Amino acid sequence: MHHGWPSARTRLRHRSVLGALSAVLAATATTGTALPPDEPAPPVPSTAAAPYALLHVDQHGHVARWDPCTTIRVRVNHADPRAPADAEALVTSALLRLEVASGLHLELVGDTTYLPYADTGVREPDADLVIAWTDAATVPALAGGVAGQGGAVWSTTRSASRIWRAHLVLDVDDALVPGFAPGRSVGTALLHELGHAVGLTHVDDPRQVMAAGLGDASRPVFQAGDLAGLQRVGAAAGCF
Ligand SMILES: [Zn+2]
Repeated sequence: MHHGWPSARTRLRHRSVLGALSAVLAATATTGTALPPDEPAPPVPSTAAAPYALLHVDQHGHVARWDPCTTIRVRVNHADPRAPADAEALVTSALLRLEVASGLHLELVGDTTYLPYADTGVREPDADLVIAWTDAATVPALAGGVAGQGGAVWSTTRSASRIWRAHLVLDVDDALVPGFAPGRSVGTALLHELGHAVGLTHVDDPRQVMAAGLGDASRPVFQAGDLAGLQRVGAAAGCF
């Protein structure tokens, strides 16, 4: 599914998958980065005790992921006055948690006015990952109590499926608990959408950050399955 982004690499197949985090359907539904290892680690399988799911695996078995030897440049759109007052601190903390868990390098390089999913016809040229706070009137995908939406765009060649861009939006109208709190917190929602942005998708286990819905079981810390999945799409998988 495309989002009106220019397809600069026309010979490659581009795909994007969205993952929505539903808050209303909850019942159903440190710092530092490690250097990538010289040799990829053997993949950790998803298990019942530590489940994870991958956004995309191509026909050759390549997992869609970022190159862990590059820096993912992040920009934040918190222009909406209803965005959390601590939006930048939230993002900084969430990125650090993601870095520690995945070994990926993410750098917050500044703000943007770009709004993903809003069909503005433009995109932010100076970022690889954009995080934005907005509402369902602007991004219809957030209608119906959807707390957030995140996705990634990748290209597939014979040797790899590589994520090039990702974006996520969080709904300012969704009454989430502030900070990184247990339950339906904005911090957990942010971690969840970041999980999509680096190549994970939903699991059924409500305790995992990558559960489809926020609920009482949600915790603002990557759980065993999330961590195994983040290893699979992170530095342990090796550089391209
Ligand atoms: Zn989701």
